[in-house]
This record gives sequence, structure tokens and C-alpha cells, in this order.
Amino acid sequence: MIESLTPTTESLDRVAGQPGQASPAAAEGSGKVNLLGMPEAKLIAFFESIGEKKFRAIQVMKWIHQLGADNFDDMSNVSKALRAKLKDCAEIYAPEVVRQLDSADGTRKFLIRVAGGNVVETVFIPDGDRGTLCVSSQVGCSLDCSFCATGKQGFNRDLTAAEIIGQVWIAAKSFGQLQANGPRTVTNVVMMGMGEPLLNFDNVVDAMNLMMHDNAYGISKRRVTLSTSGVVPQLDRLSQYTDACLAISLHAPNDELRNELVPINRKYPIAMLLDSARRYIQSMPDTHRKITIEYTLIDQVNDRPQHAQQLAELLRDVPVKINLIPFNPFNLSNYKRVSNNALRKFQDILMQEGYITTVRTTRGDDIDAACGQLAGSVNDITRRSERYRARFDEQAVRIIGQ
Ligand code: SF4
Repeated sequence: MIESLTPTTESLDRVAGQPGQASPAAAEGSGKVNLLGMPEAKLIAFFESIGEKKFRAIQVMKWIHQLGADNFDDMSNVSKALRAKLKDCAEIYAPEVVRQLDSADGTRKFLIRVAGGNVVETVFIPDGDRGTLCVSSQVGCSLDCSFCATGKQGFNRDLTAAEIIGQVWIAAKSFGQLQANGPRTVTNVVMMGMGEPLLNFDNVVDAMNLMMHDNAYGISKRRVTLSTSGVVPQLDRLSQYTDACLAISLHAPNDELRNELVPINRKYPIAMLLDSARRYIQSMPDTHRKITIEYTLIDQVNDRPQHAQQLAELLRDVPVKINLIPFNPFNLSNYKRVSNNALRKFQDILMQEGYITTVRTTRGDDIDAACGQLAGSVNDITRRSERYRARFDEQAVRIIGQ
């Protein structure tokens, strides 16, 4: 096995159960309250605080999320006096798209500038009738999974609720969805972009509630998925706030290997994580839900038949479907993509054991939009990216000198 860049654990203390920082209410620099990231209850409370009725808040909510308005003057059923009042104290401020990249296969990647000079990435993946948007929750990530490009970028900050839902707003607008009778293009959302969503709990919950709300995007709870690498204390709280679908980034069938690939496992090992995931699913009113297990297959690391057997054993009494993801190579990683042969064998074993097992086909290769490749541009406050680059350069020098 080629030596992997060893993950660090400097982020694990952060995991101890602190919810994400609260959304700054005001957009960058303006001093006004940004209405974009406010779920219904918060928007109503804001309208009441300025002496306005609940139904006005709902009118504005529909203008923003169903018709893509970012200007109060466009809100033709809102009185002139209220529009003037709102302009004085509030705004609808979406982050800015710095680049949109369209792949030959229809995948679309947005590079989105957020406050602090950072850029995050959002990817839209069409597949027949389904259009899935992969949304980021943080600028970079503090968790440093060894196979993930985002982890190598270090971490800057949590995204605000406006910056998270703003990614849905931007994508839907780009396809003409936010027009009267516009096509429904974004049918599914996965919180699987940059960052660990459960480390930005409050803002992610607010944004997910907007995704599913009938006065906003109205996406079914079966089509909004939060994916976590295993922040157990926050996962234990999740069912009080949302009933969205759950995916677990597992990637290994035992603690020894998972400690290497997903360092948060050292704090919350597999058994603890699966118990928490099971409790989440059991708390849902609909009993047929399954947890999606994400398993990135890396050549000679976690792709052996014995790993598949172990995985089948591990998940025996958990309601799951398994999604295999061939590793997508990127700079700063020495891991290699799984061979087709090993991938087929791995899938066969799981299917013979009775698991629904799909393989995620790589999309958007020509625009670096594949799973695990999202990098954006992060003003890293952890200096992890520097250390990785230095180590990678050292390795390159050693190889050239051999
Ligand atoms: S896989 Fe997810 S949790 Fe792990 S480093 Fe990447 S973004 Fe963070």
C-alpha cells in the first residue's frame, strides 16, 4: 500500500458538542437583516418585531424562495409602505457566483464567494427526472478525512443559513426554476458538499427546514439528505429538529481502519455511531426508512473481499442501503481509485448478503465535480493545508531523488 498522508486530529476537540456559530443576522457589511436564511418562524418573528402581520412574512417568504426575488420592489402584492420599511432595515442577500462550470454530462458546478474572501462549491447532478444538488455547509472542514480534498484545505468557518440556502436559491434560479411555472429542476438535496453539517447544526437545520417548507422549496423529506461522518452528540439531537433522510459516511468496516480514514471515529467509534443512527431512524414516523451508508472504495485500502464480508456482518441489524463510491484521485493524496474488478467483487458480496448496493457513477469529471473533490478556496485558519502541501512536496522530492 502506498503510504497515505497521515490525518491529524487537531479538530477533534471542536467536535465535543458545540453547535455551529449562530448565523450573523446581517449580510456582509450592510448592517441590515438578511431575510434569505430565515425559516418561517424566524421570519414571522422578525415581521412581528417591526409591527407587521404573519401573512406578510409568508408573502415575502414565497417571493424569495419560490420566485427568486432579491429586491423588495419586485414584490407586487406587498404595499409600497411595507416595501419602503423593509428596504430600511432588511435585505435579501445571496452569496455571489464567481464561476459556473458546465460538464459535458450535464453536471453543473458553482463556485460561490462567501464572506471573508472564501469560495465554496455546490454541484448539481442531473439523472433522468431527478436533479440532485450537493450543498456545502462549511468553508473547508475541520475533520480531515484522509481521502477527502475538502479536508486537505483546512477550515475557515461555518456557513450561515443564508449562505447554505443561498446555494439552493442560486442553482434553482440558474435553471429558471424560480419563475412562475418554472421547471422543477432541483428535486433532491444532499448535504454532502464541503464541511461536516452536524458541526454547523443550527444553520444547517434552518436551511434544511427551508428546503422542505411548502412556502419555500417544498422538497419532500425523502429527498433531502444530511450526510455525517459521525458527530454523535449532534446526531442524537437531530430528530428533534428535522425528519430529513440520513446518510452515514462510513468508509470502513472496523474501527482500526476507520480511525485512519475518518479521524472523528477515534472519538465516536462505529458502534456508537450506528446506535445513534438507528435511534434517529426509529424516531421517524414512517417505518420503512433506510440509512444510506456511504463507502468510498480505495485501492488496496478498504476494497478487499474481507472488508465487504466484515461490512455485511457489521450492518446485519441496521436498516441500510449501501452506496459504493469509487475514490476520485486528487492532488495531495496518494490513494488510488479502486479497480473495476475489486469494485464488482465488493458489490457482489454485499448483494449476496442481501443488501441493496448501488455504485455511484462518477459525474462531472471534466470540471472536478466528483464526490470528494470539492475544494473551493479556503482561507485556512488551521494551517493544515500548508502542512499537507509541505509534506506532499517533500514526498515528491524524495521520489524524484530515488
Ligand atoms: S469527508 Fe466530509 S467530514 Fe470528512 S473531511 Fe471531507 S468534508 Fe469533512
